[in-house]
Amino acid sequence: MIKAVHHPQGGCASILVCDVCGKRICEAGDGAVLTVMHPIPEGAESKVLHVHQTNCYAMAENQLGHKPGHEEVWRHLLCLLYSVGLSPEKLQAYCPDRAEAPPVAMRQAA
Ligand SMILES: [Zn+2]
Repeated sequence: MIKAVHHPQGGCASILVCDVCGKRICEAGDGAVLTVMHPIPEGAESKVLHVHQTNCYAMAENQLGHKPGHEEVWRHLLCLLYSVGLSPEKLQAYCPDRAEAPPVAMRQAA
């Protein structure tokens, strides 16, 4: 799931949290996105779960009782950006000097 946390410089920052253990997914390579309905029938929508690649992935499969679809976190987030019309060029226009990017400390393990 996506949550918002307090940003030390004010406001908030979005983070990715494991739907199984509730801990933060700090590196894209440590996580996976599971499509609950798999395969998704034409015209249908599926809930997705954000999970850690390790035990949390297996626990989610056990809880679902079937093998879900799997997507890498980087690809999932890229698809989300495109689905709301944010190309790399538009992102650059919104944030040309990366002033809005969260500081390194926000990206480290909670
Ligand atoms: Zn987890």
